[in-house]
Amino acid sequence: MEFYLSGHFKMSNDVSDAKEDLDDFFSDANDGLLKRGAPKGCGAKILSWGVRDNKILIEISSDRYVRAHDAMLRLRKPLSDLLGKKYRIGVRGIEIEQFRISVEAKEPIESKIPFVKESRYEDGKLVLELEVSQSEIQDRIPDRILTLLDEKLADYGGKKEHWELLWESEPKEFKFKLDPTEQLVKKRWILHGSSRGQWIYGPQVTKVFRTFEKIVEKEILKPLEYSEMIFPKIVTWDVWKKTGHAKGIYPEMYYICTPKTRDPKFWEEVIDYYKVTNEVPLELIKEKIDYPIGGMCYAQCPPFWPFLQGETLPDDIFPIKIFDRSGTSHRYESGGIHGMERVDEFHRIELVWIGTKKQVIDHSKKLQKRYTRIFNDILDLQWRSAWVTPWFMAQEGLTGLSEEKESGTIDYEAILPYNNTWLEFQNLSVNGDKYPKGFNVKLQSGKELWSGCSGIGLERWASAFFSQNGLDSNDWPDEFKKKVGDLKEIFKFL
Ligand code: ATP
Ligand code: ZN
Ligand code: MG
Repeated sequence: MEFYLSGHFKMSNDVSDAKEDLDDFFSDANDGLLKRGAPKGCGAKILSWGVRDNKILIEISSDRYVRAHDAMLRLRKPLSDLLGKKYRIGVRGIEIEQFRISVEAKEPIESKIPFVKESRYEDGKLVLELEVSQSEIQDRIPDRILTLLDEKLADYGGKKEHWELLWESEPKEFKFKLDPTEQLVKKRWILHGSSRGQWIYGPQVTKVFRTFEKIVEKEILKPLEYSEMIFPKIVTWDVWKKTGHAKGIYPEMYYICTPKTRDPKFWEEVIDYYKVTNEVPLELIKEKIDYPIGGMCYAQCPPFWPFLQGETLPDDIFPIKIFDRSGTSHRYESGGIHGMERVDEFHRIELVWIGTKKQVIDHSKKLQKRYTRIFNDILDLQWRSAWVTPWFMAQEGLTGLSEEKESGTIDYEAILPYNNTWLEFQNLSVNGDKYPKGFNVKLQSGKELWSGCSGIGLERWASAFFSQNGLDSNDWPDEFKKKVGDLKEIFKFL
């Protein structure tokens, strides 16, 4: 990895008289200041320097240890000290004319990278010409561009999502082998909504969903002492910046915009156009709405965290266990939407638990036991669980496992007999200190604060249940049949 920078220090006056002092200063810097902290023989190097009017021109090359832009910043203060005392000349700023990064790479990168005005691939190296100014180098933009390159180059190596079996139930014989969505539509228990990946759930399926919720209530929420909260369902950028979602969810999120103003005059043209044509003028609307403020609920727990943001909390209130089931989640699944299994609008109960590391891990184990009972004894599913790339990493576009071994995600999967594939129907995660850290939440004792969450997807539970047990309630497991009661036909169609 190599850096090359040419630029100048803007000075408050002509520095021609200081040439000799500058000569000493730059050769000293080459031996000391620009090598400090780097392994022997490494660091930055001033290739040339000169003065012209009020400018000190400079060319620096470096390796990864003292990067050329860091070298430039390092020089500023001692340079002011030297010229300020003796010549009463100050450094006004830094200008960068050329900034080049070369990194070894197996292949060129096609992506358009911010602040890169030109990129080429030569002799096994990726050469990027950057357009940066003083404020960008102070904000460490070049370093973040390097991290980004690392990620992109690693991607080409084909890193995989992690998946490791934890537990698997005995295989079951299945009587029902049809696609449950098709059968549900035939019975009019569900019907496509007008939006993509959206269903209108009739009374019967709704009752099944509510029965799932009752099971969760009885088996989990009550005995494990959960309290209900209502989390927001519009999520703003500042929340997603703190959770890391801002790094990756753009292709899958539903965007939210407000009108630029609610002044009816401003909208009159739109209103009149509709009245005259019976068409909604989309182009015109696009001009009249503001930039997106964020998106609709994607993962359910992030918008909870501002509730605790910036607080230091007494240890004795933990572990805290809360849940939300106050609204829908939305993801743009594109061509992936399928039946009731993969939809753009879905319903989840989200469990969140918070406490010390030990409390959070212990609670996760208790939950796992309770889920096992529900899936084996009440829903009678053939299912398995796996240790996978944590959802909070996957949603940032990362693969592999988290560094902290005890934090991560368990996916619960059920077999779908109609197509013989496994469907993730819920997950359970220990999120480590990610959220408390991201939202600056602390324990009074100074101990590490951890959290976990589990997303129970009702469409996915239903898909797993109907796929394996069919739609005829006479074939359903006794315990579930008792709980769900009568599924009355209310509508009749001619
Ligand atoms: P998949 O790999 O199936 O897309 P995911 O890894 O994107 O799932 P998570 O982000 O872990 O899912 O979301 C947690 C839970 O939310 C899932 O276990 C599932 O129950 C539910 N869920 C996620 N996406 C959908 C969807 N498109 N339709 C229905 N339920 C969903
Ligand atoms: Zn969550
Ligand atoms: Mg997904």
